[in-house]
Amino acid sequence: CGVFGVIGVADAANFVALGMHALQHRGQEAGGIVSYDAREGFNSARRFGYVRDNFTKASLMETLPGDLAIGHVRYSTAGAKGAVIRDVQPFFGEFSMGGCAIAHNGNLTNAASLRRELIERGSIFQSGSDSECIIHLMARSIQKNLSERIKDALRRVEGAFSIVAMTRTKLIGVRDALGVRPLVLGRIGEKGYALSSETCGLDIIGAEFVREIEPGEMVVISDGVIESTRPFGAPQSRFCIFEHVYFSRPDSIINGRSVYQTRHQIGVELAREAPVEADLVCPVPDSGTPAAIGFSEQSGIPFAFGIVRNQYVGRTFIEPTEQIRNMGVRLKLNVNRALIKGKRVVLVDDSVVRGTTSRKIKDMILDAGAAEVHFRIASPPTAWPCFYGVDTPERSKLLAANMTVEEMRDWIGVDSLNFVSLDGLYRAAGEATGRNAACPQFCDACFSGSYPVAPSDQIENGFQM
Ligand code: 5GP
Ligand code: SF4
Ligand code: MG
Repeated sequence: CGVFGVIGVADAANFVALGMHALQHRGQEAGGIVSYDAREGFNSARRFGYVRDNFTKASLMETLPGDLAIGHVRYSTAGAKGAVIRDVQPFFGEFSMGGCAIAHNGNLTNAASLRRELIERGSIFQSGSDSECIIHLMARSIQKNLSERIKDALRRVEGAFSIVAMTRTKLIGVRDALGVRPLVLGRIGEKGYALSSETCGLDIIGAEFVREIEPGEMVVISDGVIESTRPFGAPQSRFCIFEHVYFSRPDSIINGRSVYQTRHQIGVELAREAPVEADLVCPVPDSGTPAAIGFSEQSGIPFAFGIVRNQYVGRTFIEPTEQIRNMGVRLKLNVNRALIKGKRVVLVDDSVVRGTTSRKIKDMILDAGAAEVHFRIASPPTAWPCFYGVDTPERSKLLAANMTVEEMRDWIGVDSLNFVSLDGLYRAAGEATGRNAACPQFCDACFSGSYPVAPSDQIENGFQM
């Protein structure tokens, strides 16, 4: 998901809509905005579909007045799959000291047990979302102000959260102690501030990047003043390395490092680790493109767009049903036959999850008359589910959890298949000495099975680490 918030500028909701549009790659199912205006109070709108189709209409935006607003773009990982408007954030709660809206990116790993406990004690849930627990935990807090109540609530949750919240007068940003999901702070004009999942959300509104919210940090912004606290003990950065591989936009800067640069460098690492004789390097667009450029530069094999992407289709993986995903490949990608015929082709993609994409692309490339097909993957084999906000399927559906690399090569039906090593990935992400096994610099659980936070709900359901 993507979260965004603005304080201290007129018609804040318009800025929020723009920020959400820049974060659309983080979630395409639905979006919502809450705004606050001293005369009109809190207002909200939640819609299915793209930001551009909903939050550009003057008639809707006029219902969201005020100089304080937050927004959320949704990609369902928790809660009911598919379309339920109740699950669309921001969530809102009315407390004795005023209203509070929250937008959450990440996934809480103890939400099921918290929900059970809260329901037993009288909470009435409106949605199926893990994030709603936060509002109910806030309601049970005895703190006198809302930002303290948010702290109380977040001390009870486990897992990943990057949160943007608002009260009548404050814009609040918080990251969990591991900083799994991103969140950045920007400045707009003299006394305006913005919080965004990624820096690309600041760029679109012309906000100046100030800094990242740090792991375990909470900022409360009001009247142009930023108050920072660290409510969650000793933080240790375990940023999601898959944000670098796939999830974030390539024009975003994370940890002072360009996502594009990391992806490009993964291609360089791949060409070093798994060289091959071939005529063309082609990306599987768009997510494989920077790595393919790096691979081509390092190997000296010419780069070409052998696969062309229809720009009017979103991210296929994020479509929630298997059926749509299956159609998705053809709707989205087509082979540039004239380029491919008779060629030995290296295809570079960001990841293999179920393997269905790779298999179909191989079919398309062979149909077009390629002489050989070599897959190079810009991440290690995805063998474990993510419980922190990326919708990786359960192990039984993950190709790499059930096959060796050689079996995967055979199943996909290609001449060779190689994944970048975990160390190669860390080097590409700026860690010169690779992965520190004793204390990894990133979360890489979907590749390593080493979970920085025990997924307690899942373990209760029989998941074995
Ligand atoms: P597969 O067909 O192997 O299940 O899907 C792999 C493709 O899904 C890759 O091309 C990758 O770009 C895309 N993808 C989109 N979202 C995700 C995600 O959340 N996790 C992973 N690992 N891959 C994703
Ligand atoms: Fe990111 Fe993978 Fe960790 Fe999930 S398990 S937070 S996708 S690195
Ligand atoms: Mg892809």
